[in-house]
Amino acid sequence: TKFTDLGLSPEVLKAIAETGYDTPTAIQEQAIPVALTGLDVLGIAQTGTGKTAAFTLPMIERLAAGRSRARMPRAIVLAPTRELADQVSEAFEKYAKYHKLNWALLIGGVSMADQVAKLDKGVDVLIATPGRLLDLFERSKVMLNGVQIMVVDEADRMLDMGFIPDIERIFKLTPPSRQTLFFSATMAPEITRITQAFLKNPVRIEV
Ligand code: AMP
Repeated sequence: TKFTDLGLSPEVLKAIAETGYDTPTAIQEQAIPVALTGLDVLGIAQTGTGKTAAFTLPMIERLAAGRSRARMPRAIVLAPTRELADQVSEAFEKYAKYHKLNWALLIGGVSMADQVAKLDKGVDVLIATPGRLLDLFERSKVMLNGVQIMVVDEADRMLDMGFIPDIERIFKLTPPSRQTLFFSATMAPEITRITQAFLKNPVRIEV
């Protein structure tokens, strides 16, 4: 399988070619065509499998095909740590190079003022750690009722760090009609429970 077989746009294919990727990884090959259709995905994959592109590429395509909504983020990516959120942000920037999408990186430990200024300008995508996202939500700096796609990355680490209640709250703040792309290296009972509560007939992909 080649990247050109997955249903991706010329813009995204060009960006991928520039990163130097030759062939899709197993999780990319299986998750991208499913996620492009709008179905929920439950991906069981470790770091290093290429899962970041597996959720970022279809997210970019679906956002680019839709219409931006002033001040209303249309997608959220939740990552357990600042470092991971930062990596997702870098990947997103590369892959979305030929699309006009705006995003904000919302992580703790840095000034909120810059993040708020970015949000005020209007962004399509939030790449966030759960605590900072909820903090900004409580201060009415961000609206989540326009979210069409929610990604949860490294859910097993979210569990280890005690973030499951935060994730659950964020799920409840977004419209039930959203598409969910949920990734975890393992399926602990608490992870299974949350996927059963918030994912709709997900396509399970294990690599
Ligand atoms: P991830 O599992 O998303 O953290 O990705 C692990 C590493 O693999 C990252 O450095 C990516 O840039 C790289 N990568 C992702 N997809 C591919 C691909 N199809 N071909 C080669 N490298 C890739």
